[in-house]
Amino acid sequence: MRKVQSDFPILNKKSRKLVYLDSAATSLKPKQVIKSVTDFYENYSANVHRGIYQESEEATKRYEGVRDKVAKLINADSSEVIFTKNATEAINLVAKTWVKPKSKVLLSVMEHHSNLIPWQKLLGSKLVFLDINNNGELDLSDLENQLKGVSLVSVAHVSNVLGTINPVEKIIKAAHKNGALVLIDGAQAAGHMRVDIKKLGCDFYVFSGHKMLGPSGVGVLWMRKEIAESLPPFLTGGGMVGQETPHKFEAGTPNIEGVIGLGAAIDYLQNIGMDKIREHEKTLTEYALKKLSRVRGLTVYGPLDINKRGGIIAFNIANIHPHDLASMLDNDGIAIRAGHHCAMPLHERLGIKASARISFYTYNSIKDIDKLVVSLQKIKRLLKV
Ligand code: PMP
Repeated sequence: MRKVQSDFPILNKKSRKLVYLDSAATSLKPKQVIKSVTDFYENYSANVHRGIYQESEEATKRYEGVRDKVAKLINADSSEVIFTKNATEAINLVAKTWVKPKSKVLLSVMEHHSNLIPWQKLLGSKLVFLDINNNGELDLSDLENQLKGVSLVSVAHVSNVLGTINPVEKIIKAAHKNGALVLIDGAQAAGHMRVDIKKLGCDFYVFSGHKMLGPSGVGVLWMRKEIAESLPPFLTGGGMVGQETPHKFEAGTPNIEGVIGLGAAIDYLQNIGMDKIREHEKTLTEYALKKLSRVRGLTVYGPLDINKRGGIIAFNIANIHPHDLASMLDNDGIAIRAGHHCAMPLHERLGIKASARISFYTYNSIKDIDKLVVSLQKIKRLLKV
């Protein structure tokens, strides 16, 4: 992994030497992404798909060009890439247009609220859930049975708490055999590993730009063309009348600068290489798991096999509330997340109210983990635990 820290202005501030370990919440942005957004404002700031003048044509060309970049990133067809506000909106789009009131949907206990509440609102108690085993992996031992009568399975590719990389290919195969479609919530996977829609064989795949070095306010819904063609629009308004998919799902002026920034983020990630990014996160995760296992009283949640997990580690230290831990780490310039991470059913399942969570990306290094562990030990001494 080449040195990338210098590309991230926030990591080079004089006022605070930041150790950023909260990329699962949102990622930092490299200067290439920031520049692409200001370049839009400064040089071709105009609406898309409308104007018959150079700036608008340039904006449209770049906006549509990002659709191609997203398609290439996930090995999909450009016409199947729909821009949304975020992963949450993408899931809501599917819930509100595809799911029927009588549908039975299979989720898992590790889902983020974004992949739970839209279904709960629609279907109430008709949801069914995959459980986890003691390693924090999905328990698929009764999958065939649980799939009976199910029309949609919606599960995370990578858990935002346990870091577990779910065996989604296996789930997709079983679901299709039983006549169910599959939505994969890729919010924690896209931008961290190679994602190949065709290889996975799923029917819907969603993710957010802000978690993969891009701006906030732009997400992606990929769905099979034949499904998209059969669905009514989600939102209505300008820009969608008489349009085919994907534009019929993008009513109103879209987040043009957000999409352009996402394009720059994809270029940046692909310049490094998705396999290298995954390897880097694996190295950091393996190192962090080893170091954390030496902190007395610290419990890590999720699989210990690094081949089965992404760069996300949730943990607790006995007798320290994760909020206290996060705020004391902040005093040392270390940003982590504490709470239920919008995964309350999972925390209930684990028998805890909250956890501390660290998460890695391209700009993190072994040094960040060393600093974290030194700080954790200091906090333990201070609090006498
Ligand atoms: N799914 C998972 C697994 C997530 O981690 C998140 C964000 N924490 C989301 C969905 C929702 O993403 P967004 O808030 O960008 O819509």
